Amino acid sequence: MIHFVGAGPGAPDLITVRGARLLGSADVIIYAGSLVNPELLSLAPEACEVHDSARMTLEQVIDVMARAQRDGREVVRLHTGDPCLYGAIREQMDALDELGIPYDDTPGVSSLCAAAASLEAEYTLPGVSQSLIVTRLAGRTPVPEGERLSALAAHGASMAIFLSAGMLPQVQEELLSGGYHADAPVALVYKASWPDECVVHTTVGQLASDAEKASINRTALILVGEFLAGEGERSRLYDPSFSTGYRKASHSAGHSVGHSTGRTTRCATSDVRIVSFTDRGEKLAHLLARKLEGTAWRCEPGGLSRWTAEGFQDADGLVFVGAAGIAVRAIAPHVRCKATDPAVVVVDEGAHFALPLLSGHLGGANDLARQIAAACGARPAITTATDGRGLFAVDEWARHQGCIVTNPERIKNVSSRLLADDAIRVCSDWPLPGDAPRGVTVVGPGDACDVLLSAHESADEHALHLVPRVLVLGIGCRRGTPSDLLLRRTKDLMERTRYDRRSLACICSIDAKADEQGLIELAQTLGVPFMTFSADELASIPGTFASSAFVQDVMGVDNVCERSAVLGSDGGTLVHPKDAGDGITLALAERPFEPDWRWTCG
Ligand code: SAH
Repeated sequence: MIHFVGAGPGAPDLITVRGARLLGSADVIIYAGSLVNPELLSLAPEACEVHDSARMTLEQVIDVMARAQRDGREVVRLHTGDPCLYGAIREQMDALDELGIPYDDTPGVSSLCAAAASLEAEYTLPGVSQSLIVTRLAGRTPVPEGERLSALAAHGASMAIFLSAGMLPQVQEELLSGGYHADAPVALVYKASWPDECVVHTTVGQLASDAEKASINRTALILVGEFLAGEGERSRLYDPSFSTGYRKASHSAGHSVGHSTGRTTRCATSDVRIVSFTDRGEKLAHLLARKLEGTAWRCEPGGLSRWTAEGFQDADGLVFVGAAGIAVRAIAPHVRCKATDPAVVVVDEGAHFALPLLSGHLGGANDLARQIAAACGARPAITTATDGRGLFAVDEWARHQGCIVTNPERIKNVSSRLLADDAIRVCSDWPLPGDAPRGVTVVGPGDACDVLLSAHESADEHALHLVPRVLVLGIGCRRGTPSDLLLRRTKDLMERTRYDRRSLACICSIDAKADEQGLIELAQTLGVPFMTFSADELASIPGTFASSAFVQDVMGVDNVCERSAVLGSDGGTLVHPKDAGDGITLALAERPFEPDWRWTCG
């Protein structure tokens, strides 16, 4: 008997239970060595005869199968992912049919699914696309003319393109000629579920060049479509107002629409809440919620002050669909300062104007108004002086570059110089490529400046200090180390290295420490995420690290703090090596940071 088996996308524990059982009782295995993870072969009995089909012709494969069948031996033909996609199984089955040899087929997890899983994406997002096109560019195997990539791209459906990572300039050209906009989102997923998996988020227009930068030219899926942007309506299946065979509908006054994927771009404001007061306004609110991934709420009597208070506490943007006066009265008691107030925008229910009312720059209300305008056809009514004159807005720039402004009271000094036609001087620890905006001069390190872009502490009495979140702290510690000791050591290290505490992006360790109470509390106190990695992940990164035989023995990897800092820094570099004391080891890495001159979405 011949068993065709889907091996799954790569991770050995993603084979099915049935597939693993068949491997366990195989006498002969023929596996597609180019893509199947050889670790799976360890599931087979020791005496099993193994062939790598990457070196065989179809005839040789069938010959091995036929001989095994004659000898009454069980054969597993192991294909990557699921055999039904580009598996070339039908030609084998035809040959077996001719020889009268019986076979069966066990499905596997396709790389199509594994890639979506690593992106936490859904191909079939309601309101975005309900279809998935699985295709490839023609290679040695031709593709029928009616299935040209450009013709398929014209549908605008979600797309998964196999076997084409070596031909990305052609893929890009066909997608563009098929009607995709150069800004349409693309994800390139290399070796989904393998330890060296790598994901590149890019756009149709940048696909080939970004892939080249990441050196990806094989074993990758190219996923294309708006489903990657994370926008979409709620599914009807889980909508409380929709009955299914299992659940009766419920109705509540004031319901929410839309969802947030937690993904933020330089332009998006992440938690946007929209309130409306009339039927017409409600329709607009729902449209905006869908387009901005926000939540819409129809105001109920007496509910506005609570909605506004909660929004000021938790949201990034509040949108009032209605009269500006209502918004002004509602927000008045909550307005504090430009560093912390959320963006507030008013849109009239007829969608003529989108007026940023509060936090135009730092809070992103100008951007939000522009997004609203683009979504519903209104005109953004921007009133901040720099924008009115097309001048550089330093606080909006800070937001777009993902920087924290440590001394927002100095923003007005910078803006008023620009408004008075004086030049401002910017000093940055990173290169600032391209032409600086009008009125802005870039100066070298140590020169007097008006704006300082640096992750280090600044003693400058004059400059506006912008701090990017680039610093990653890697930590190892003995079990039970108290959080206050961890905090003291962390602060001490940051002081010695002169990093501004606001530059800290996250703390990282090994997964054996994922439940270490002191580390969890440290992350909470510092207000940053705590990430952990497996020993294998830590061991897999290249580079020279301080090595300890003791740590290797206990943890399964020779170093935790340096490796986890580098791994958590997404391709960054170690900036401070292992720093040991009190049973704690610390190391610092910096994430890559490439600031540019973008300061507006408009
Ligand atoms: N039957 C397989 C596909 C085989 S064709 C499946 O269901 O996944 C080989 C192509 O599949 C590769 O060129 C690549 O485009 C894709 N592929 C296979 N494994 C992959 C993985 N782990 N990650 C990303 N793409 C993968």
